[in-house]
Amino acid sequence: MPRVAIRLDVIERNARVVTQACGSYGVGVFGVTKGACGMPHVARAMLRGGVIGIGESRYENIRRLRRSGLDCPVLLLRSPPLSRADETVRLADISLNSELEVIEELSRAAERRAKVHDVILMVDLGDLREGVWPDDLMWTVERVLALPGVRLVGIGTNLTCFGAVLPSEKNMGELAGYAASIEETFGVGLSYVSGGNSSSLPFLLEGRMPPGVDNLRIGEAILQGGRDTFFDQPWEPLDRDAFLLTGELLEVKVKPSVPIGETGVDAFGGKPVFEDRGLRPRGILNIGREDVAVEVLLPVDPGVRVLGASSDHLIIDVADVRPLPKVGDTVGFHMGYAALLAAMTSEYVEKDPMYDQVPPAPRSVRVVGDPQLMALVPGLPEQLAKLGFGEPGGDESGGDELPLRLGDGRVEGVADAYGLIRLSATVGEVGLAAERPAAEGLSPENTVLVGLREAGPEESAFIKENGLAAYTIVDIDIRGIREVMREAVRTAKAGTRGFVVVYDASVTGADGISARETHQAMELIAASGGMLGLQVIGLNSANAAQITAFILSGFGRTIL
Ligand SMILES: *Cc1c(COP(=O)(O)O)cnc(C)c1O
Repeated sequence: MPRVAIRLDVIERNARVVTQACGSYGVGVFGVTKGACGMPHVARAMLRGGVIGIGESRYENIRRLRRSGLDCPVLLLRSPPLSRADETVRLADISLNSELEVIEELSRAAERRAKVHDVILMVDLGDLREGVWPDDLMWTVERVLALPGVRLVGIGTNLTCFGAVLPSEKNMGELAGYAASIEETFGVGLSYVSGGNSSSLPFLLEGRMPPGVDNLRIGEAILQGGRDTFFDQPWEPLDRDAFLLTGELLEVKVKPSVPIGETGVDAFGGKPVFEDRGLRPRGILNIGREDVAVEVLLPVDPGVRVLGASSDHLIIDVADVRPLPKVGDTVGFHMGYAALLAAMTSEYVEKDPMYDQVPPAPRSVRVVGDPQLMALVPGLPEQLAKLGFGEPGGDESGGDELPLRLGDGRVEGVADAYGLIRLSATVGEVGLAAERPAAEGLSPENTVLVGLREAGPEESAFIKENGLAAYTIVDIDIRGIREVMREAVRTAKAGTRGFVVVYDASVTGADGISARETHQAMELIAASGGMLGLQVIGLNSANAAQITAFILSGFGRTIL
């Protein structure tokens, strides 16, 4: 499968650059995730970078964000269809609107749910996409203000979309002026005067944005470092490498550069033109039109030239690549916005969110918990020390100590953006996403339950609704603990800085996984290098020796 690597640190940094620049002009930023298909990891990276909320155009993506526990304000960017008023009110806090009829329906839907839905009224300043025509603005506002289920929180505009109209002192000044007269005429305060998308950034950075405009909705510049926005003159502080598409070479051969035989139309109805450059080494990649918009692929290696594509294959000229690539090698591409959208939407492209600066693995262990439980494992610190894990305090770098908690309670002191692997016969309450909201850094898509033997109907529903990964004892019987743990580690690590492990003694035993399987699971955790914290539940005097051994396996103890 082709793969898109998503560097969340880069997105976070870009978001910070954008929000700080905008902040210095008094402009708040909604981070727009539609280019990344509402991927929750991406939304979180944007929020860490300082955006005030998330803008999304698709209900499916908003649902994905909500399911992942995101509780920031979510703005629906696309005008809500009349037929989906209820869904709009349920999923989004704010929506961009331009039709009174729709706003009336939103108001009714909100009233039915005993809610108030926030509305930003869009004004068309000439781009001719959505928006109320300025002549109709004041009477529309008057009607909207009379509706009980909605609150007018702002006005906004969209430029450089359909009509490719650029922001200017004139149109932005008009927007600010309309906002001021609405506030004055109707005695209301508007929270947002939303002046557009990434394409407004160059204008803002030139210091030309009128003071009344206090909000932008930014996607491309944060996700792609402004590849399209700052096309001619990149804005240096932004990093353009958050997304990298890679494919694998399926064939590399020297072939003529012009097809042999009479030519007709290609598989997509086009009539291709070929330049005769003689015999050239060329390659075929497993990337096709099903996956991306090939016209806006930008090879990372300047020696690579895209020749064309069919539904499943991308044909490239590799004559200028040194050393000459071979079958099985990967080739990387940056993507224009259209290619990014397609790749992120395609089921055939693997998405791999990651951090490029994963903190160094902890080298000291801080054992915490009930003193009675700690007394059951007296030799543990010494044995951990033999594995190279000292007691905390000795290390100057500070933050790299791993909390090992004995008994119930929260595992404190784990960096943000972590996953969870819970080895337990029961779903339990500890560690469920509901207990540790996304704001604290754990998201359901990185939560894995391993070794389940019982789950009540509510627990089952919770697992399904929240998209937790769960492996029952039956899954382990069928697939084996190695494969299950490999997947568990992969899920817990995807787009996180590592994971917390909860080991509940209930998982091991006659009806559960064996002691050997428990060791294997812990050894695989150790080998992954991803463990940021460990919690042990169900420790008692009878199992203390065995559990000590499991813990040591989790810290990398091997027989030899
Ligand atoms: C997509 C979208 C944006 C964000 O556009 P970018 O060019 O990605 O910054 C802003 N507003 C609306 C209404 C949009 O649909």
